[in-house]
This record gives sequence, structure tokens and C-alpha cells, in this order.
Amino acid sequence: MHLKLLIDKIIEIIENEIMKKQEFGAGIWHFATYLDRYATDGYGEPRSVIEAIELAGKVTDLSYVDINYPYFGGEFSNEQIKKALDKAGLKVIGITPEIYTREFSKGAFTNPDPGVRKRAHELITEACEAVRFFDASYVKLWPGQDGWDYPFQVDHKSIWKNSMDGVGNLATENSDLKFVIEYKPREPRVKMIYDSMTRTLLGIEQIGLPNIGVLLDFGHAIYGGESAADSAQLAIDHGRLFGMDVNDNYRSWDDDLLAGSLHPMELFEFFYVLRKNNWQGVWQLDQFPFREDSVEMANMAIDFLKSVDKALDDLDYDALSKAQANHDAMGALKIAQKALYKHLARD
Ligand code: FE
Ligand code: FE
Repeated sequence: MHLKLLIDKIIEIIENEIMKKQEFGAGIWHFATYLDRYATDGYGEPRSVIEAIELAGKVTDLSYVDINYPYFGGEFSNEQIKKALDKAGLKVIGITPEIYTREFSKGAFTNPDPGVRKRAHELITEACEAVRFFDASYVKLWPGQDGWDYPFQVDHKSIWKNSMDGVGNLATENSDLKFVIEYKPREPRVKMIYDSMTRTLLGIEQIGLPNIGVLLDFGHAIYGGESAADSAQLAIDHGRLFGMDVNDNYRSWDDDLLAGSLHPMELFEFFYVLRKNNWQGVWQLDQFPFREDSVEMANMAIDFLKSVDKALDDLDYDALSKAQANHDAMGALKIAQKALYKHLARD
């Protein structure tokens, strides 16, 4: 190896291991194309997961992806996916089984048909194998169809029980793996069963297994009326914050816009809570570039997150805790603004 390459490699290892350089990830869907109920022909030509991985590899500082299972855009083996990931310099943080497609339109864990509930269980069990294959951190459960739409539609006691039994059985059968539940207030279901941090934590604590945690999506928290910082603290206090992703929205819907574009100060407070609690993990993007260039948008978000990271290094924690001890809003904001705005300048 060239001396310079060797030195660069050593610096990288030191940064990653000793200085704990922050790593970034993204849902692989960030690099796919999308349909909605209007552009039923899609906002772009369909892409396979392999093509999406190639695009993700073009993002300057992306290290991890979360991959949907089954793999989209064709029949691919785990080995083929691994080859594409290696070429793109990417690792897998989690596998997201697609328990929200047509088959599960009346729910996965809470489907009234026990046969469909069994099918969801089987699909997630297959996803567990993929998590083991890629040595990923967790199976991500996003039960988007589990819930209800109308008053009187469901028996609330039995669907809540089914949602906990469904997750609990998987976590018991796969005690070598971690499971994360990503809560969301609504969409596609008008009311989702795991809709908030408090309800999700309540369910997890009731299940009572150590390998189930929460994935906090900043956008889901804020359009659900939460303070993402407060929700993060609550999950951390229960030892249940296993993952996170960021984006932004106008607070009425899961717009999945560029992270930091609308609510930078609240995003900064969220990361401040993570840092204060010494939470270690990948900072992930869950953005949907319907009309934007996906690589450019990921780069822009990661640049913003790096500024946040630097601002966290700069923050006067003692002064901030003194201000917070008096609930001094203006004093605390001045300290936060000083640290964040200083680092947001772009070339
Ligand atoms: Fe998300
Ligand atoms: Fe979302």
C-alpha cells in the first residue's frame, strides 16, 4: 500500500474508533423512485435495489443503508446485494420487511385473518435471516397498515393485544437479534396502532423483552405533536432508543423533506439530547426526493448534520444547564443559536 494511502487509512481508523467520527446512513428508498395517487406512472423510471445501492454509493459520506425486504425491482439473492454494497462501500444497518403492502392492507400483526398474521410473521422471519447475513443492527418494524380508519371499526383491546403478541413472538423466537418499532401517527392507516413514543414505549415495556426498542423518526415525532428531543430523552431513560432517522415536514403530514430545511433548532435540540446522553449510533436520513436529485439531497442533508455535529462540539453545556436550571428560555436559546448558526455557513 502507498504510504499516503496507509496514513489516510490510519487517520480514518483513529477518527472512527478513538474520536468516534459520526457515521451517516439512509433508507435505500431515498434512492428509489416513487408513485403516488396522482403520478400513478411514477416520478421517475423504476429502479431496482441494485441501482439504488449504486446511487447511494455516490453520496460523499454515507456508510449505511436500511434495506427493504423483499428486495425491490427484481429477484436478488443476499449475495448479489452484498456484492453491490461492497462495491458502493456501504454496510447494512437494518432490514425493513414490507409488512405494509397490498396483502397486509388490513394490517400485519393486527390483521383480522390469522393466516395473514402468520404470513407477516413468516416474512419478518425471512427478514431476520437477512439481518444475520448482513450482520445488521436490527429488524425494523414499520407496521404502517396496523390500525384503523373509522369509529367502531375495530375492537381496540384485541388489536392492541395482537400488535404486542406479534412483536413479542418474533423477539422471543429471535433473541439473538434486535427489533425496532418505528412509530408514526398516521399514513397509510388513518390511525396507526404504534402512533407515538409514549404508546410505543408502553407496548414495549408491557411485552417486557430486552431486544425490542424504538426507532425515533424526527419527522414522525414532530408531526405527531411531540418534541423529538423530549421523546428521545424518554426512550433513552427506558433504555429503548435503538435507532433514529431525520427529515423535515410542515407538521401536518410526513412530508419527508430535507433534514434541517424547516425546523433546524428543534433538530439541533434533538441531537443535543442524544449527545448529552452519550447516545452512540448512526444518524440516518429518511427523506423522499420526489422531484429532487437524490444524491444531491443526501449530500446536502449530511452537510447540515455535520454542521450540527460541530455545533454540538462547540456548545457551552455548563452555561446551557445553568440556563435550563432556571427555565431561562432566552438565555438557553442564545447559547444554542450561537453554537448552531456559527456552523451553518455554506460555501
Ligand atoms: Fe423513518
Ligand atoms: Fe416516514
